[in-house]
Amino acid sequence: MAQLALEFLGTGGAFRTPRPGCQCALCQGAREHGIPWERTGPSLFVHGPDVLIDTPEESCLQVDRSRIRHIAAGFYSHWHPDHTAGRRMYETRNWDALRWPPQNTCTPIYLPPQVAADFETYLGLAENFRYLESRGLVKVHPFDGPLTLGGWQVTAFPLAESYVYAFLFQELDGHRRVLIAMDELLGWTPPPALAGVELAVLPAGVFEFHPLTGRRLIPADHPVLQTEATFRQTLAMVEQLRPQRLIFAHLEEPFGLTPPELERLAEDLGRQRGWDVTFAYDTLMVEL
Ligand SMILES: [Zn+2]
Ligand SMILES: [Zn+2]
Repeated sequence: MAQLALEFLGTGGAFRTPRPGCQCALCQGAREHGIPWERTGPSLFVHGPDVLIDTPEESCLQVDRSRIRHIAAGFYSHWHPDHTAGRRMYETRNWDALRWPPQNTCTPIYLPPQVAADFETYLGLAENFRYLESRGLVKVHPFDGPLTLGGWQVTAFPLAESYVYAFLFQELDGHRRVLIAMDELLGWTPPPALAGVELAVLPAGVFEFHPLTGRRLIPADHPVLQTEATFRQTLAMVEQLRPQRLIFAHLEEPFGLTPPELERLAEDLGRQRGWDVTFAYDTLMVEL
């Protein structure tokens, strides 16, 4: 059987925990306790295929503290800053600064079609990656068909928001499948072909209501409810997807949910819906 283990490098969203300067109870707790309260930006490493997905601004720190040895490929789910701002990780990791001629490491980077197009449009991303290519530190490839890595076939497919892609890892000599969606599930209907995957990693979405008390956390007319999937909408997607094991990540600081609250929520979901569900925290390792 092909090996696969997920290492959650960062489980925050656009807002890390603690948020700089914030004095809320969650951020105070994160400063006091560190992990699992503290959350850096969204990134995941898939051991086996050895794929790094996304590089938030703390990517250097995340990769350094991880168990990663070899990065066979870097993927990007979409162009948003919380998923790309730490791309210099490849520069500082791969650059051989002392030897001449240098023996740089060159990481292949795979960009799904719309991600490649958006990199040309936003944040100077394509320009920055061309610079890294010119130094021999990365090589950018189109991700326009299945890749075979470490005994797994990997495909990227767009979600309902067509600028963002999810990744499906399928075992070549078996039947296990792992679905990884980093962010932006708004409007997504899981296709029936994905039903029953071994493991699904999904963003928790926007907590319009406190999941334990039901108290409204976001005004009903807030525009974010038109642009982001809510936690309740995400639960409806899970009902259709029916993964054997579910892990939520991309947990945003503003909702203020503490690790003990998320643990209780996972227990409630397990009892009420019969799910095997975990809320990820930074450095969590999950073996398939
Ligand atoms: Zn995000
Ligand atoms: Zn805070």
